[in-house]
Amino acid sequence: MKSYDPSNGELLGELPVCDQTQITETLQHAKLAAKSWRQLNIVDRVDAIKVAYQQMLDDEDKLSELLSREMGKDIRRAAGEVGGAIHSSAYLADEAMTALQTQRLGYGTELHYKALGVVAVISPWNYPVMMANNLIVPALVAGNSVILKPSEQTPLIADAFFEHLSKHLPAGVFNIIHGDGEVGELLVKSDVNLIAFTGSQAVGKKIMAAAASQVKRLLMELGGNDPMIVMSNANIEQAARFAVGSSFENAGQMCTSTERIYVNQTIADQFEQRVVAIASQYKTGAWNQPGVNIGPIINAHQYAKIIAHISDAKEKGAQVLLGGHGQDQRYIQPTVISQVNRNMKMEHEETFGPVVSITRYSNIDQAIEWANDSNYGLGAAVFGTEGVEAVASQLEAGMIGINQGPGGGGDAPWVGAKQSGFGFHGSAEGHRQFAQVSVLSK
Ligand code: NAD
Repeated sequence: MKSYDPSNGELLGELPVCDQTQITETLQHAKLAAKSWRQLNIVDRVDAIKVAYQQMLDDEDKLSELLSREMGKDIRRAAGEVGGAIHSSAYLADEAMTALQTQRLGYGTELHYKALGVVAVISPWNYPVMMANNLIVPALVAGNSVILKPSEQTPLIADAFFEHLSKHLPAGVFNIIHGDGEVGELLVKSDVNLIAFTGSQAVGKKIMAAAASQVKRLLMELGGNDPMIVMSNANIEQAARFAVGSSFENAGQMCTSTERIYVNQTIADQFEQRVVAIASQYKTGAWNQPGVNIGPIINAHQYAKIIAHISDAKEKGAQVLLGGHGQDQRYIQPTVISQVNRNMKMEHEETFGPVVSITRYSNIDQAIEWANDSNYGLGAAVFGTEGVEAVASQLEAGMIGINQGPGGGGDAPWVGAKQSGFGFHGSAEGHRQFAQVSVLSK
């Protein structure tokens, strides 16, 4: 399997694809390791995990650069992702340990959180370190062994980042296998005990179908098509800054990117002017070019999808206020589109590119209805003053931001509603998804 730099197509490296025999061997290895790993005291497991992450500290810069090269995000964002994963893991492990303590309910009843066995973590390319890491740490703390199948778009960074876990934990506790969707499918069909998946809705549905025959445990963190409502009493500058920042973050390749904006028509002209002015300051380019904040699109398929969404909107009457075209078949110019309507693809499907998409509304109930008219329900945001909480309370999403982005801080769970998934990570409840709850009555 070959991996390329998305900014110039340069070959970065190759890794062997795993076949069925290797998957079976890895699984046997992981099952055996899980037996002794779960017997360890949870404090000892957490200590071992912390030691493994300590080893990564020396490699932080090297890993950040590899993430930039392979995924395309600029070095500041890559360093944030790599550093965030390394430095938060000790805290995450402690938090999971606390969440997994036995609870005494009274009348001699206890709740125990037991290891499930082998957890398959299947991860995407857009945050190849962070999304996998958030699932791996609690899975290991709970006493499971883990098999990671990272995205075929970003195998090198996954391999380099997580190799410390395979090296520094007991053999077989952490394993990594490489390949595309076919390898993922084989892993899903194998005798793993939980599939912790982060990725698209389409693949999530396939995994659910494949897991059904054995009633396999699932944790599904799927895509989004996040709406943002800008009320007539919103701070226009604040809303415009958020709209651009969130739509362009990670070149728009973020599950909680703002994908649909509904702005009150009385302030729409002003809002659009500010959005265009702010968006014009963004610059596309490779990870190591100074001042760049929109990197390349990960591959030709995603690039074609973004261009198709923009063309579809144009054909159906939308007005392109900025950008609206690609560059070198690798970048999408910062794009602002106005007069978007409900017949356009970008209103219903993830565009996953640096596109601000604006629709005007005259009545707040209409805006709420449009925001909720989606089978996705990951994040949502509403900007306004009086009445803003009432609007937020009617939005159908797992994470809702008022005058800020969705996602919460500290120990909040990362959670989707509707077809953006079920099961989640983060928070005490999230950590417990990696364990079997067992009720003991004495
Ligand atoms: P994807 O669904 O195409 O692939 C994700 C992973 O699934 C990859 O490792 C892939 O090889 C594997 N896979 C593909 N087919 C499979 C199959 N049949 N069985 C098992 N595994 C299979 O997603 P992607 O393009 O890598 O990532 C982008 C998507 O992920 C977007 O939809 C984005 O919104 C979503 N995402 C969600 C979150 C979240 O927290 N909710 C976070 C990041 C990304």
